[in-house]
Amino acid sequence: MSTLEIIDLHASVGDTRILHGVNLAVSSGEVHAVMGPNGAGKSTLSAVVMGKPGYEVTAGSILFDGREILGLPTWQRATAGLHLVMQYPTEVPGVLLKDVLSEALKGRGGDGDLGRLDTLLRTEATRINFEERFLDRPLNVDLSGGEKKRNETLQLSILKPTIAILDELDSGLDVDALRDCARRVMDATREEGLGALVITHYSRLLEELKPSRVHILVKGRIVETGGPELADVLERDGYEAFKRD
Ligand code: ADP
Ligand code: MG
Repeated sequence: MSTLEIIDLHASVGDTRILHGVNLAVSSGEVHAVMGPNGAGKSTLSAVVMGKPGYEVTAGSILFDGREILGLPTWQRATAGLHLVMQYPTEVPGVLLKDVLSEALKGRGGDGDLGRLDTLLRTEATRINFEERFLDRPLNVDLSGGEKKRNETLQLSILKPTIAILDELDSGLDVDALRDCARRVMDATREEGLGALVITHYSRLLEELKPSRVHILVKGRIVETGGPELADVLERDGYEAFKRD
């Protein structure tokens, strides 16, 4: 059982204050959605949780399984079981996907055996309709937006984190890719007890990846938390009612 607790988190980039006291907790097997308009601070929240350089935490705390992770380098957060599916996956020329995964598995105490990894990759690729020919590419290089997100989902399914943040998994995806990726993550929550923090501004993703709680982030604060019906309210009425100070 894992828990990610974000407590009164304040964060800035340079002189710009972006997060103003975010509180949120996600545990194994749970799906929480964080919805908010453009510029609300959603990607900043995911970057701060993973320890991306350039962000300053000015107050608050992030506990993973009860342990403070602020101050830990990103790789230690990842090997502890945290994972981020990035909104804009990075292309890494010259570095093969299977080598990344092999090293990452070794970092988690596995033997990184390439033969076994290859079998697992092919099984998981079939499961989300990711073309096998892409498995031999350098990481994300020359993949379309949808293929990159399938690739990110594939990495999640191999690395088996305990808590994952999905930053707009739906951006750049067609409906088929959206369904394949969302279902794989939902299966991981049911089969492996993955806890997921699903960042999106459309309720469409949440039809497949069903949250138990929905949080609305506006201007760096969570202004409302509710059940899945909150996503339907947003779909119908937009964010306007939640934008008031
Ligand atoms: P969202 O993901 O909700 O659309 P972001 O977290 O990307 O929002 O951005 C929140 C706000 O912080 C935006 O106004 C954005 O311009 C600003 N911001 C994000 N990153 C930086 C940065 N590196 N430098 C300056 N401002 C930033
Ligand atoms: Mg964003």
